[in-house]
This record gives sequence, C-alpha cells and structure tokens, in this order.
Amino acid sequence: MAYSGTCNCGAVQATITGEAAQTRQCWCRQCRKLASGGAAQNTMFRTSEVSLSGAVTSWSYTAASGNTLTQHFCASCGTPVYAQSSARPQFMTFRLGFLDEPHGLAPEMAIWTSEKPDWAILDPGIPHFAEQPPAPATQS
Ligand SMILES: [Zn+2]
Ligand SMILES: [Zn+2]
Repeated sequence: MAYSGTCNCGAVQATITGEAAQTRQCWCRQCRKLASGGAAQNTMFRTSEVSLSGAVTSWSYTAASGNTLTQHFCASCGTPVYAQSSARPQFMTFRLGFLDEPHGLAPEMAIWTSEKPDWAILDPGIPHFAEQPPAPATQS
C-alpha cells in the first residue's frame, strides 16, 4: 500500500511506498503545542521509502531522551509535516493529519500520558504509557 500526504496549502507533498512502522498518539507538551492543546497523532515511516517535495521550515529541541528532535512544517501554511530524531534518521515521523485520507491508520498506543491535560479522555482500547514506550524491534 502506498500513502500520500499534502499540507493545507498544497506546497508540500509526500509519497510513501512502505508500511507504517508504528502509529502513536503523543500527549507530550511539545506535541500538544503543535496540535493546539490535544495529542498529536504520529506515524513512523522508513526514510528510504519517503519522497518529499516542497519547502519546509524546521525547529529542533532536545527531547527527554537526550536526542535532538527536529520538527518540520510547511514554509507557507505552517502545517506540521514530520519529525525526525537524531537517534533514528532511518525513520520520519509524519503527522497523521498531513496524510491524505482514507489512509486506514489509527493510533496503536498513547504515550506521554503524564503530560495530558485533565480534560483529555484516553482510548481504553489501546495501551497507555506515562512517558516514552519501549522501542519496537522495527526501530533498531
Ligand atoms: Zn502548506
Ligand atoms: Zn510528543
């Protein structure tokens, strides 16, 4: 199955030829700022299977893991496109909202629930992790 993605203005587009390695819902403070207060929905693809076009801007910070996380946004409309960890350049973590629908992907776990707001309701049907979950085998 192939996936595609488009930002709100259409300047940034992506084509992904491989399957998603993992789809997560993240409640960390940085993701909540990206997602206007709620959780960000993130799905990891292998960098080698992604082709991206259009201008992106980026912002980097040091995550709780000590790794540098770089967030990429459309340079025109600001749509969050993907994040990348300095520890895992072989993966690009796309924002689920950037992907064209229907894509059939849904969060498989909720992470960083220790930073969720009081009003947030977690899906009881998926595992919850207070902080970062153990790395899946596909990440190594
Ligand atoms: Zn755009
Ligand atoms: Zn996060």
